[in-house]
Amino acid sequence: MNFNKITPAILKKIVKALGQDSVFTDDETRDKHSRDYTENFEFLPEIVVEPKNTEGVSAVLKICNAHKIPVTVQGARSGLAGGALPFFGGVALSMKRFDRILEIDKQNFQVTVEPAVITEALQNEMMTHNLFYPPDPAGRGLSFIGGNVGTNAGGPKCVKYGVTRDYVLNLEIVLPNGEIMWTGANVLKNSTGYNLTQLIVGSEGTLAVVTKIVLRLLPLPPFNLLLLAPFNNAEDACAAVAAVFSTGVIPSGLEFMEKKAVEMSAKYLGVTPLSTSDQLLIEVEGNDLTALQNDCERIAEVLQSFNVGDILYADSEAQKRELWQLRRNLGSAVKVMATLKFSEDTVVPRFKLPELLRGAREIVKKYDGLDTVCWGHLGDGNLHINIITNKEMTPEFYKLAQEAKRDIFAFTKSLGGMLSAEHGVGLAQKAYISLFYSPIHLDILRGIKKVFDPKGIMNPNKIF
Ligand SMILES: Cc1cc2nc3c(=O)[nH]c(=O)nc-3n(C[C@H](O)[C@H](O)[C@H](O)COP(=O)(O)OP(=O)(O)OC[C@H]3O[C@@H](n4cnc5c(N)ncnc54)[C@H](O)[C@@H]3O)c2cc1C
Repeated sequence: MNFNKITPAILKKIVKALGQDSVFTDDETRDKHSRDYTENFEFLPEIVVEPKNTEGVSAVLKICNAHKIPVTVQGARSGLAGGALPFFGGVALSMKRFDRILEIDKQNFQVTVEPAVITEALQNEMMTHNLFYPPDPAGRGLSFIGGNVGTNAGGPKCVKYGVTRDYVLNLEIVLPNGEIMWTGANVLKNSTGYNLTQLIVGSEGTLAVVTKIVLRLLPLPPFNLLLLAPFNNAEDACAAVAAVFSTGVIPSGLEFMEKKAVEMSAKYLGVTPLSTSDQLLIEVEGNDLTALQNDCERIAEVLQSFNVGDILYADSEAQKRELWQLRRNLGSAVKVMATLKFSEDTVVPRFKLPELLRGAREIVKKYDGLDTVCWGHLGDGNLHINIITNKEMTPEFYKLAQEAKRDIFAFTKSLGGMLSAEHGVGLAQKAYISLFYSPIHLDILRGIKKVFDPKGIMNPNKIF
């Protein structure tokens, strides 16, 4: 792709449009914006801009579009697919100043937010109003809502309540040519033509910049119960997942952690875990405590057919927090403890989970020096197969890991699965998308991209 560099004259225009305090050319800021949480990628932007409002975003895009400068919109850069990395340099467009909750509409159970509101902060604020925003990526203490929209983020609660997409009603966006528009209306149902709102969700900053988000909310469920089911082996834990749903109960969390993952997270946090087994963490939540207790009993009963050990019930809020903390810190723990961690985000029909786990482990075993550590939102069929190593990361070794990844994805496809459930394709998985989508499917996606972004300036070299 042919892009232009930012000349002093173009820089002057950007500074004039945004103000000197919103444009950064220093090495330290550029370096910070060259990385996210993905592997060891690093792509340096030529400049970093931090617009203060939608008009500022529009002004930057107009200039970049006119001069064919690539623009990469960045949220909190907690992404695991390299989506927010400025591959061709150009402008890193940081949304960090868009951090306000604009309007809480309690009557209609809606909230309008700017994209840099931290996911957990939004959830906590909603709770004070007895409202509930369910999508809860494990990295919710870091990620921005705008990034969640960019990747269509999931999380533990999504098994019961759905993913980010299911809560986005309307978006203010800025198109690559600088035009500002709303994609829909603040309504719960909308069959008025193609759904642009949903097209933008999960588009990984390749179509437009999201500057305002209207989210649907739920009433806050007052009660939840959490149980930990330890298994003799990980495949039994995976096999038990589909059976949980046969009870008629839809848990509000059904998370899997391999023994090795639990140990790593506990070491990272410096805590002693309640159980160091291959395990499922199962949460139920709702309005009626007795009904929830009955749900837990039904789940516990069905788990007996899968070699489950003694099921532990969290008996206090502190214990629940402890268990969730262990789960939510798995990614960070493994990233710190391994020289390299490739975070895969495969998803298969639930029934295929034991097969996926077994197959992935066998595939990686064939590659000397590589290992796996697995966890995931198994209620959704979403298994994070992390390929890790503690060997020195030579280019040859990196290539081996890429081959192992390809084999795992091909196997996932053979099970009727998909490449990414919630992290997006970004840069890290783009080499594999053609395993899953036919040429005609990819042509349609490229056609959509062209309609929004004829000059291809928005987050180039991502997805396909
Ligand atoms: C410890 C940890 C745990 C995680 N757990 C989960 C999990 O359970 N579930 C899950 O889904 N993910 C998880 N993630 C991944 C990550 O948190 C999510 O992908 C999150 O949605 C990214 O948000 P962000 O603000 O960091 O976005 P970024 O990484 O900055 O950007 C992500 C993508 O969105 C685009 N984007 C960002 N802002 C905008 C905008 N305003 N307009 C248009 N496009 C935009 C970017 O261009 C990029 O393509 C985890 C990450 C970590 C580090």
